[in-house]
Amino acid sequence: MVSSANLGFPRMGANRELKKLVEAYWAGKVTEQELQQGSKDLRAAHWKLQKDSGIDIIPSNDFSFYDHVLDAAHTFGVIPSKYQHLQSGLESYFAMGRGLQRAGDANVQAVDVPAQEMKKWFDTNYHYIVPEFASNQQFSLANSKPIDEYLEAKAIGIETRPVILGPISFLLLGKAVKGDSVQPIQLLEKLVPVYEQLLSKLKQAGASDVQLDEPVLILDLPASIKDAFKHAYEVLVKSSPRILVATYFGRLDSNVEFLTQLPIHGIHLDLVRAPEQLDSVLKVLPAHQTLSLGVINGRNIWKANLSKAIETVIKAVQAIGSDRVIVAPSCSMLHTPHSTESETKMDQEILDWLAFSAEKLHELATIKEAVATGPASVQAKLQANADSLARRAASKRIHRQEVKDRVNNISPDQLKRRSPFPERQKLQQEKLKLPKFPTTTVGSFPQTREVRLARSKLKKGEYTPEQYDEFIKGEVQKCVKFQEDANIDVLVHGEFERNDMVEFFGENFEGHVFTQNGWVQSYGSRCVKPPVIFGDVSRSRPITVYWSQYAQSLTKKPMKGMLTGPITCLQWSFVRDDQPRKDTANQLAFAIRDEVVDLEKAGIPVIQIDEPAIREGLPLRRADWDAYLQWAVDAFLLSSTGVHDQTQIHTHMCYSDFNDIFPSIKRMDADVITIENSKSDLKLLNAFEQHSYTNEIGPGVYDIHSPRVPSVQEMQERVAAMLKYLPTGLVWVNPDCGLKTRGWPEVEQALRNLTQVAQSFRAQA
Ligand code: GLN
Ligand code: ZN
Repeated sequence: MVSSANLGFPRMGANRELKKLVEAYWAGKVTEQELQQGSKDLRAAHWKLQKDSGIDIIPSNDFSFYDHVLDAAHTFGVIPSKYQHLQSGLESYFAMGRGLQRAGDANVQAVDVPAQEMKKWFDTNYHYIVPEFASNQQFSLANSKPIDEYLEAKAIGIETRPVILGPISFLLLGKAVKGDSVQPIQLLEKLVPVYEQLLSKLKQAGASDVQLDEPVLILDLPASIKDAFKHAYEVLVKSSPRILVATYFGRLDSNVEFLTQLPIHGIHLDLVRAPEQLDSVLKVLPAHQTLSLGVINGRNIWKANLSKAIETVIKAVQAIGSDRVIVAPSCSMLHTPHSTESETKMDQEILDWLAFSAEKLHELATIKEAVATGPASVQAKLQANADSLARRAASKRIHRQEVKDRVNNISPDQLKRRSPFPERQKLQQEKLKLPKFPTTTVGSFPQTREVRLARSKLKKGEYTPEQYDEFIKGEVQKCVKFQEDANIDVLVHGEFERNDMVEFFGENFEGHVFTQNGWVQSYGSRCVKPPVIFGDVSRSRPITVYWSQYAQSLTKKPMKGMLTGPITCLQWSFVRDDQPRKDTANQLAFAIRDEVVDLEKAGIPVIQIDEPAIREGLPLRRADWDAYLQWAVDAFLLSSTGVHDQTQIHTHMCYSDFNDIFPSIKRMDADVITIENSKSDLKLLNAFEQHSYTNEIGPGVYDIHSPRVPSVQEMQERVAAMLKYLPTGLVWVNPDCGLKTRGWPEVEQALRNLTQVAQSFRAQA
């Protein structure tokens, strides 16, 4: 009979219990034992919830104190030498995840170790800890977490399918330790025996099945990696429970051929991202393999179309028989919030369209029931689902013809500036009269405790809007005055009125709602609450003009208006699934374009449109890059080109490596781009030169991710290095990102140093 499965449940808990527990442990407020007991209770609650929801195959070892890739590193003994002097167990584990600093005394030595690198988990907003391997790497079964958690569930009467990051993905997601040149995949032969050991222990403990996650299978893989798969899995199956290899976030494409030839017991497919792959897989699936169908979206929050999912499952059942079919979410539910139950304040009409993790479990169970015993058995549920979808499709809240008309009638003129850059540059120079090596910042200034307190007072009604307004004005005044004193050339207002760069705009755009408790894990104990874009997006009134204009009134120097770009808004929200992302991006772009035009009308001469997330939206398969870059850059152009030539448009990018999308950055045609480069990556500068980038550029010279104040000399060296690649006339001097996470004293000192650096280069020029 068809069964239902889950691939992973969000770890945090209905009220972010895990976050609170872990943070209390770090602060020394709860003991390790309390931490262990609290998380054990949480795991039990999540297993029971899944069982009570009617899920047949329930995951274990999907729990993590910090990150599942870090868990794998810790379990397989991949602990770089700099952490080996720490206590094994939680101390070294958390040190690898978040660094550890501890003062010493007469008896104990001081500790100061940095965290390992963090990277985005494929194209999600979850970040994993990058494992570090050495050429002489030894592996060992350093802890028994997967077995312990399997037995823990068993002890409360719940049989589970342990989830383990597969060996190939584990190695490919990692890197060599500093100074070593090993390619982690070369270590496979040494790693496999330890996986074997773990799997056979799970089998002895009673596990009949395991889920090995190999998300790298949806990437373009060279032949050598395919061989590595074959090599590893032929060995692993021998002593293992039945192995299901889980793939997600995309399509297998040609990887399906070798995967179906492995002696594994089953394959999981993401049929939300890649529904078209079902047919091709059904054709080649050998008789000994089961197929897990990811028909419910594990990454978004909309109710599924149950009848469509049922059709898909029935098709598979007809092709390979019901015993070989499993109904599942597309990927782990790690990427969706816990439950809609705590959304007590949300608009009822919209709440009716949503399914978070707990609700998705019911969807899975219903699909399974419908296929196993016939739709009549769940008729009421199917009808309720169909009604809800119909209400959503017809809602007047979603569809606004004037917004759609605008997007359907984009003219080529709306995607380009009036004149080419050299002409604009001349006009901007006449207007702004900036010196060589102009200085600016990326936008935000320190969000101090007072700033956050004022916002929370406003929310609680302890401040009237007028009081809050006065408070923010005071902050803007201080900020502008400081920038004048420090001799910065293009000023900003400081973004004190904003909670978050995406949420702030979402709150002011049509078509968005906000959850009360829709948290998803971003990294470690950090959770984010993405806005929900449910309908057509537009801007009904100016959003930032008030503060930019106020700030401009305080100074004769040019004030820079600060906006978040359309692709970043899209990437960091839960996006509606009833139209292509491209259309939503264009709607956002028009809303921002309207704001840009209003800022210009209000006398703001420089406007920055941040796109830190444009690179992370890049599809996982190379073949899909061009299509994405086409519409993403078009959306940026649409947002930024409504102004006269004299108005200087800036953009800002950070968090990633931009070398591989250079032609697209060029096509964005921003007058000035400020870009994260404070680690002095000459590769990036080289790329600007190679692609003969001609617009102005500010590679960051001050690393704002650290409280360190960079010295004048240090920043001078960075600018000097830049000038080997970039012509003097194009270079700006600025930090590498916004300053909101920093404190005032360090920022003041660093920015004074920074303007001094610019002056010294001007003197030489
Ligand atoms: N303007 C934003 C700020 O300064 C940019 C933040 C970012 O790039 N992540 O905070
Ligand atoms: Zn940034």
